[in-house]
Amino acid sequence: MNTGAAGSLLASLDWVSRDVRPILARALDGHEVSVDDGVTLTRVAGRDLHALTLVADEMRRRQAGDVVTYVVNRNINFTNVCIKHCTFCAFSRDHREEEGYLLPLAEIVRRAEEAASLGATEVCIQAGLPPKLDGRYYIDLTRAITAALPNMHIHAFSPEEVLYGTVRSGLSIREYLTELKAAGLGTLPGTSAEILDQEIRDVIARGRITVPQWVDVITTAHALGIRTTSTIMYGHIETPAHWIRHMALLRSIQKDTGGFTEFVPLSLIHSEAPMYSKGLVPGVRPGATGIEVVKMHALARLMLGPSFRNIQSSWVKEGPKLAQLLLAAGANDLGGTLINESISTSAGAQYGQLVGPAELHRLIRDAGRVPAQRDTLYGIVHTYSDGEDPESPLDKIDDAEARFGSYRRLIASGAFRFTR
Ligand code: SF4
Repeated sequence: MNTGAAGSLLASLDWVSRDVRPILARALDGHEVSVDDGVTLTRVAGRDLHALTLVADEMRRRQAGDVVTYVVNRNINFTNVCIKHCTFCAFSRDHREEEGYLLPLAEIVRRAEEAASLGATEVCIQAGLPPKLDGRYYIDLTRAITAALPNMHIHAFSPEEVLYGTVRSGLSIREYLTELKAAGLGTLPGTSAEILDQEIRDVIARGRITVPQWVDVITTAHALGIRTTSTIMYGHIETPAHWIRHMALLRSIQKDTGGFTEFVPLSLIHSEAPMYSKGLVPGVRPGATGIEVVKMHALARLMLGPSFRNIQSSWVKEGPKLAQLLLAAGANDLGGTLINESISTSAGAQYGQLVGPAELHRLIRDAGRVPAQRDTLYGIVHTYSDGEDPESPLDKIDDAEARFGSYRRLIASGAFRFTR
């Protein structure tokens, strides 16, 4: 029986198609959305799409309230040199290329210290896989940041990087993650997931971390008390059924471990991605359409919201305006300020590398919601009441590229050129 807001919302949805309405009703009643029902929902169009987003928005309200969170953080992509050749990646360079760089440890720490002085609570560190990397490099890097900034949350190393660390060091995944944690690692990014379907992976990124390996790194991290985010990359050759199966896999992990902090849909930035620009992958789409982006976030709220709570919309991928709209389609988080952004920028994203707290607040308030700064684990740092504005030094920076540098300047300058 439907009661209260859910019941009245459902009653007002009598115009929804007959195959869609019962699925939405069950979701509103608190039942898990099955894979089959999720796949049916991927096909909604027209007014049914409005119904889906309306229900996602109601679920968001129940699960996460009206607060929209963000984290003040800085990305540090310390090298673009990589032994892999993922066809969606425009960031990586071969070690022989002039544009290959590797930031020295001292520069990485300097960037983290600068972030701390600007109010960042997190550094997000991910990079390419340089050849012959010292197997303990990620551990040493973590230790160096911890020594300089004991209170900084280190959100670092994709499962692909963790796996590379184990290969290079000879340690097991458990041993490697245990050492990373002891060195001060806070959380892992749940990237290098793309689509968790081996057939798709073999087409878009042959030789990349496999589905079982990705699950192994993530579940081992969770077992050790290292929480992770989770992601999906869509808008290439996958079908919507892959989205749903990907979410179902994440949901089953979450039921076992409770270790995911959030789900972040990342649509493909296609224009510079070799799979698209060089025609490496037949049939690749030019990223997700606007409708697909909306559907993805609404479906994520229905499939994952009950156990994940936090669904993020990414201004880096979608731009601030669409990211804002997604707050009405199931999202409750706008991600981070970033300060530096290389991976999407190199692939052709046009949205810059810094959105300061004041702009995030403007987007959130304009959406009728309440802004709050959070930490990496979704602890609230400060909820802003009506009329209260953030006082962040980040908002006083007029030219982020001049102040913090950029990917294009870095690879063109030859500074920090990678040498073996
Ligand atoms: S996505 Fe990561 S592993 Fe793949 S080529 Fe790019 S930097 Fe390397």
